[in-house]
Amino acid sequence: MIIDQEYFWSDPAVALGYIKNSELRYHMFVANRVQTIRSNSECEQWHYVLGKANPADLFSRGEAEKIVIKLTQREYYRDELKALESSQSVHKQSSLLCLTLFLDKQGMMRIGGRARRSLALSFKEKHPLILPEKAHVSKLSIEPAYQKVYHQGQAMTLGALRTQGYWITAANKLVKRHIYQCAPCRAMRAPAVQQQMGELPQSRIEPTPPFTAIHIELLDSTSTDALINALRSFICIRGPVKTICCDNGTNFIGTKNELLASFASLSSGIQDALKDSMIEFKFNAPSASHAGGVWERQIRTVKSVLNSMLPTYTTRMDTMALKTAFYEVMAIVNSRLLSVDNFNKPDEIVLTPNHLITMKPSQPTVVLGKSGNEEAYGRKMCRKVFKDNDALVRRVQLRVANRHLDRQGKKMTEPSVLERPVQKLILLVPAIDS
Ligand SMILES: [Zn+2]
Repeated sequence: MIIDQEYFWSDPAVALGYIKNSELRYHMFVANRVQTIRSNSECEQWHYVLGKANPADLFSRGEAEKIVIKLTQREYYRDELKALESSQSVHKQSSLLCLTLFLDKQGMMRIGGRARRSLALSFKEKHPLILPEKAHVSKLSIEPAYQKVYHQGQAMTLGALRTQGYWITAANKLVKRHIYQCAPCRAMRAPAVQQQMGELPQSRIEPTPPFTAIHIELLDSTSTDALINALRSFICIRGPVKTICCDNGTNFIGTKNELLASFASLSSGIQDALKDSMIEFKFNAPSASHAGGVWERQIRTVKSVLNSMLPTYTTRMDTMALKTAFYEVMAIVNSRLLSVDNFNKPDEIVLTPNHLITMKPSQPTVVLGKSGNEEAYGRKMCRKVFKDNDALVRRVQLRVANRHLDRQGKKMTEPSVLERPVQKLILLVPAIDS
């Protein structure tokens, strides 16, 4: 076909004005588009068309749906349509025979069904339009129904499809495939991939000094320096460390780098002597906390003990009280049974990590006494009493502090110490819990 003339039509007159006016300067967005149009066409090719007469608007006016459905039905159900148009019944061999098809006023085939008398259902629900499962329009009509029920299952999507007024043959199969191919649903509902369990690391199958015990150290920050101090304390209490398995915490990485740097600064003779006592760091893959499952599980136990223990502290804890609490948690967690084999034999000791750490048959027990440091957060505390020559107290030293803490949990003002006569003191009777 030879094209000797091209015409372009537009219904907004403003757009035509933009294209035809080369004098004015437009905003960047408009200017870019006008430029594209002008470089691909001539101004004289552009003409005005009434909105009503614009075929490009058919879709927004809902007319296109009818045309597409009519064309589809004509393509797939030629024989049935022919029969209905000539007021005959559908051929007995037709797969649509049982659907009691009929033609509506616009010449579209609808399902007869048995709900003709229903007042509750709308016409399009009682008599949906028939569509073949192979037609592209059938596939397209599933998506809005599926969106309407927010990606729910087959039954709900089929229900929504009926409400929209379509009867697609073998709709189950089509909807099932549509759901199967929905990427967000696959991501949302897919079961987690199962991995084959890897081999246990050597440290867990080699007989070594008790690797079942836990140790808790209180650090005053998450810095590398704080971790190195904690590591030094640990080594002094528990002995040399061969391997550290950890996550990718910046303080762990910092410690490794710092130890390597200080090792590198030694002379080669000392390096040779210390080579065997170097600590080996084994880092988990990033974001793979499950790889440290064996110690993460113990952290959960520690948290569980703390959850029960901390509410028993009636005063606010200071660092020393927290450290004591941590050591008590450590003793409790380390008193768990390593095996239940001898549990029912009264004359045999059941081993716990504490037995191996303390090398004593009896378990560490929590020392009775008042825990916590009330002085740390009390507003006014008597710190010192001055006895006169007659052994009576007439002067005391008071520590006055503000109870309020800042966002970091530190005192907002430094406590001050005052000397006051004893008659300024009031004896407070401790409250008794009901
Ligand atoms: Zn989906």
